[in-house]
Amino acid sequence: MLPSHKAVYPGSFDPPTLGHVSVVKRALNVFDKIIVAVAYNPGKKTLFTVDERLELLRDSLAAFPASRVEVDFFQGLTVDYARSQGARAVLRGLRVLADFDFEFQLAMMNNHIDHDIQSVFLMADHQWFFVSSSIVKEAAMFGADVDKLVSPLVAEKLKAKFDRSAKSHLI
Ligand code: ADP
Repeated sequence: MLPSHKAVYPGSFDPPTLGHVSVVKRALNVFDKIIVAVAYNPGKKTLFTVDERLELLRDSLAAFPASRVEVDFFQGLTVDYARSQGARAVLRGLRVLADFDFEFQLAMMNNHIDHDIQSVFLMADHQWFFVSSSIVKEAAMFGADVDKLVSPLVAEKLKAKFDRSAKSHLI
């Protein structure tokens, strides 16, 4: 397909969900190697630190061969990072319609900055269409069971975060 057969899949992954995992699984049919990269943005408030998100991503993606799926983080422009990794494609996921406006704008901007890097969009399997990191966090915060939407470690860490913050509010 693309000359390098390598794609960077950037995102916040705060936390990773099975929707993200499904996008990676599908992408492995297209690319030889996927670098799933946590985009570090100091101005963005996240529930999990970069190190925690890397740990959660490694756990969520453990079923895939390490030679084909790598986990990393970066700061700055995605296209610069992709170029530094020798990747010519930036992979993003799409859910029904909600993502389109933003993803379209982002892809156009990336193309404006660097013509040689192509944005590639894949959908997750249909059962993950409603899943996003933010809806999972919100549900977990109010005590909902999110075990079927994230890896076991992510479910455990979400529970620990919200148990701890609930206790600290009571003090
Ligand atoms: P960002 O803050 O960069 O949007 P996210 O971690 O929320 O980071 O998402 C990373 C990418 O994965 C985005 O392209 C998003 O649209 C996609 N994505 C997230 N969840 C799903 C899902 N359930 N199905 C398909 N794509 C998804």
